[in-house]
Amino acid sequence: MRLLLSYCFAVIISINILTAGEPPKVLIITAHPDDETGFAATVYKVTHELKGKVDLALVTNGEAGFKYSTLAEDIYGAELTDEAVGRELLPTIRKKEIMAGGKIIGIHNYYFFDQKDTHYTLDCDTVLHQVWNVTWVREKLRELILREQYDYIFCLLPTPETHGHHKAATILALETVSALLPEQRPIVFGCSVTEKTDTTKTKFTGLDGFPLTAVKSGKPSFMFDRTQKFGYKDNLNYKVIVNWLIAEHKSQGTMQLAMNRGDSENFWFFDINSPTSIPKIEQFFESLKKNNFKKKEY
Ligand SMILES: [Zn+2]
Repeated sequence: MRLLLSYCFAVIISINILTAGEPPKVLIITAHPDDETGFAATVYKVTHELKGKVDLALVTNGEAGFKYSTLAEDIYGAELTDEAVGRELLPTIRKKEIMAGGKIIGIHNYYFFDQKDTHYTLDCDTVLHQVWNVTWVREKLRELILREQYDYIFCLLPTPETHGHHKAATILALETVSALLPEQRPIVFGCSVTEKTDTTKTKFTGLDGFPLTAVKSGKPSFMFDRTQKFGYKDNLNYKVIVNWLIAEHKSQGTMQLAMNRGDSENFWFFDINSPTSIPKIEQFFESLKKNNFKKKEY
């Protein structure tokens, strides 16, 4: 994940599928390999403790992530920071990295859409209208969502300050979902990763020009606490998992400097969702607060 990205993401939940006691099915829809680090602890809990299934649809090929690959050059035996070399090799390297990380957090199937990862930009209009084949991506997403009947779709929250590709991937997810029949529609949340010490609260009411991204409440509705304690003397927490995942993205050399950052994964409820889903969503987040690790004394 690029240094400048705001650790925000969105979650989409289909109320029609999620029933009490049934393991949840999740589809992650993100732009770059490593964006999934923003909700890694939640994914881990879903796959390991709720026994749910999580798949990932990745929109770009990640080729623009060559700038901070210096320390990975020895590992991969190539001058990845040379733009031409990086752009050629990183799509394959980063697929391996995301799958190695995915093994840790429990991602099951990967759907690589390989749209061009151009460069860092705040502008999402250009990628949506000139770079990506959005018609094809939306159709692939539609097929996938209808076939797998996911309960949840996770994607990054499209705040103005986040990467244009993050915004664009989420907009495509929202457009795909809103075009489904009401009973097929997933429910959309946003999430921002924050520190407990944060005094300024992120406010997000929607991205200008994209009404589907509206969040009337302006704040997250649900939260997963990465710092919940367990293990010997309660010295472990879910940041360990997030750090393991970040460590797999070795070609993205600045990510490791952000290890241990982010105490909570905050979920935002997009207005396109049906409010009748809230009790089930509350139940879902309640189940994420429990852990099944046996208490051991030494
Ligand atoms: Zn990214």
